[in-house]
Amino acid sequence: MSIIKKEGYPYAFNSDACSTCEGRCCTGESGYIYVTKAEIFAIAELLDMDVNDFGVKYLFKKGYKYSLKEKKIDDSYECVFYDRESNGCKIYMARPNQCKTFPFWDYFKTHVDELKDECPGIIDD
Ligand code: SF4
Repeated sequence: MSIIKKEGYPYAFNSDACSTCEGRCCTGESGYIYVTKAEIFAIAELLDMDVNDFGVKYLFKKGYKYSLKEKKIDDSYECVFYDRESNGCKIYMARPNQCKTFPFWDYFKTHVDELKDECPGIIDD
């Protein structure tokens, strides 16, 4: 088991659950997948794309921030980079920090039940 704990969070995470989970943190309810300017450049470079073309194709603006777009498949809103076939992230090497730090987000400190519904890897600490 690969148990990850983080100071200040009332739960732990078993990352072994990812292999049998169908990308529930990248799919499901609609949400925002925020990307910083540096992340935008890194993803565009990984995809060997011009950064402006990348922005037009994959980003939208939310307030003063940018988010990756989603695609709707049946009732699921999925990150545009989630790959159902491989059950993985197409830009894993350059995925945003928001994705790297899941499930240790401030929001979930006080919404543990919501997190447990979403992620089968959450265990009580
Ligand atoms: S960028 Fe990758 S890890 Fe992040 S939500 Fe999209 S598919 Fe998932």
